Amino acid sequence: MAQEASSSLQNTHILWQFFKQITRSFTDRRFSLWIALVLLVVALLVTLVWLAGRYEASQYQDELDRDTADAAIDIRNGFDQNVLILQNLQNKALSQKLWQAEISDLLSQNRDWLRVEKRDLQGITLDAVSSPLKPALFTDKSRIGEHVETMQACLRARRLNGPAYSRSYFVPQSNGLGLEVMEVCLPMIERGNTAGFTLLTYSLQEVLSARLGETYGQRNQISFVEPDGTRLAVHGNLPRAKRLFTAKQLLDLPGTTLMLRMDGRRAVPVLLPNILPALVTAMSFALVSVLVLLVKDSRLRLQAERDLADALAFRKAMEDSLVTGLRARDLQGRITYVNPAFCQMVGFEPESLLGKSAPMPYWPPEMVGEYQQRQAVRLAGNAPPREGFESVFVRQDGTRFPVLIFEAPLINVLGQQTGWMSAFLDISEQRRIEELSRSSQERLQATARLATVGEMASLLSHELNQPLSAISSYATGSLNLLRHPDDGRASPQLSDLQMAFERISEQASRAGKVINSVHDFVRRRDQDKEVVKPQSIIDAVMPLVQLQAHKLQVRIQTEMDPRLLPVLCDRTMVEQVLLNLARNGMQAMDHPTCHQRTLTLRIKRAASSQSQGWVEFSVLDLGLGISDEVAQNLFTPFFTTKAEGMGLGLSLCRTVVEQHGGHLEFEANEPCGTLFRFTLPTAAEI
Ligand code: ADP
Repeated sequence: MAQEASSSLQNTHILWQFFKQITRSFTDRRFSLWIALVLLVVALLVTLVWLAGRYEASQYQDELDRDTADAAIDIRNGFDQNVLILQNLQNKALSQKLWQAEISDLLSQNRDWLRVEKRDLQGITLDAVSSPLKPALFTDKSRIGEHVETMQACLRARRLNGPAYSRSYFVPQSNGLGLEVMEVCLPMIERGNTAGFTLLTYSLQEVLSARLGETYGQRNQISFVEPDGTRLAVHGNLPRAKRLFTAKQLLDLPGTTLMLRMDGRRAVPVLLPNILPALVTAMSFALVSVLVLLVKDSRLRLQAERDLADALAFRKAMEDSLVTGLRARDLQGRITYVNPAFCQMVGFEPESLLGKSAPMPYWPPEMVGEYQQRQAVRLAGNAPPREGFESVFVRQDGTRFPVLIFEAPLINVLGQQTGWMSAFLDISEQRRIEELSRSSQERLQATARLATVGEMASLLSHELNQPLSAISSYATGSLNLLRHPDDGRASPQLSDLQMAFERISEQASRAGKVINSVHDFVRRRDQDKEVVKPQSIIDAVMPLVQLQAHKLQVRIQTEMDPRLLPVLCDRTMVEQVLLNLARNGMQAMDHPTCHQRTLTLRIKRAASSQSQGWVEFSVLDLGLGISDEVAQNLFTPFFTTKAEGMGLGLSLCRTVVEQHGGHLEFEANEPCGTLFRFTLPTAAEI
């Protein structure tokens, strides 16, 4: 067991040191590392989501740019086609009626056509057909005022010898609204010269709705804008609360440039708009989950570390507070570990012991040989006695002390022996107490023997005095009878007999004197009286009482009033009385039917009025009690119920107590057993 405890303590020590280092270096940095990690992950996720959003927006912007470019091409193609149609008509040189019919037909097919005019070189309208789908754009009157843009377009057409477009302009309408229109002027070539113009008026609004509305107008708002952003014509509506994307495209026409603008609103990706953001989001979730798991795991690990550190700290505290010295040696006999108790025991610092091998600094020089031999036997693999062995060590200051050593092989976790573990108990105090108790026991036993002998002598003298007196009286009487009644002289035969009787009488009275002197000697013990504290009497007998109590499995209980005055007594004899009473009480409980084995030693102030200023000592047992028959003979010398008893104990006790002027009494104890009490005078009382 010592080996197991010691090996685990050594492991604990190493682990503890390791832990302290790790924890010190990590605890400071761990927190900041975690914060850095969390910040990095959050930054990474935000960047990823932002990039994904941006990528998606750029995708959409590209799409819108492409659409706008396509729309511009569509418009341009449409315009070019219209020019071709009109040129075809010009080439046909139709009659006015037919021309009007053809134009009317075209006007009803093309919603963006508002009016087609024929003009001469001076710009005078020769013929004009307005769209049947729209209210007439110009009254002929208003048209006389002519529009400068139209004029310029036709001049340009003549100069270019091809179609020219006017800048757009606003034409107010009778209903209070108006139209933004644009015109294209086609020169009529006859025999290589310009003979007139065909003028087509477009409604920009209708250009947008008729040509682009179906394809692009569903999701976007399409408009023609001026460079300053003013909208000339708009088609389509924009839903609100969505992100706005805008694309612009220049529509370069001969004579003018239009800017086509397309606005599209797209919802900002909410949940999983497309694969990339979805992937990024999923990865982010995974990352966050892993992070959360990591944090949880780390928290668990921290908790486990903390628990382990607590357990180690507890073990270390246990190890440090052990009073048993512990020492580990490797297989070569070098010291690998010592605990504080061992260092304190031998008075050396751990540093001066670790790594040392035989002869150890705490070995007495004259025993080095013997100890070395013992160590050699141990290292050879011979198991030491389980109950330990005694040895003597020398402290650094030179003092020697006895130790009890328990040794066991030190087995590591793999089950291999790595050395020897020893536990040391400093038994000097134990030895001192044993010595003290032995001498006090010897002293008490000697006193007890003396007291018993004295009591016996006293009793014998008392008992022998009477027969001796009788012998003396009979001798004197016989002498008187032998004397001659006349002259008082005896006959010669009788004189010898007379002398013999005289000798008997002399010897009898001498024996009486001897016995009296022995009696006097025995009774003359009150010269040893001293002032003693009642508690110290109990303290003195306690070791011996405990010894017997241990044997008989009795619990000793003391009840002492601390304010008692000291008593004047023959200390040794009173101790003897207490011992006798305690021994009798314990023996009375040494019976299988006695389950409660408690002996109480009580000291208090005497209660009765006659014994004011006296101290009462009581011994209470829970034994079988005293029957009436036994009670009658209790103090009779040589009365005993025990096989090995002498029957002098109680009689001696009474003699001693009475010599001090006190009383020895007994009564039945509650709930069972007997109470013996005696009184002693206090020093003040005397
Ligand atoms: P011894 O102990 O040698 O027998 P004692 O004079 O001390 O002599 O005791 C006489 C007897 O008194 C004992 O043998 C025992 O029967 C009885 N006795 C003494 N003390 C007790 C007690 N506490 N309880 C019961 N009996 C007792």
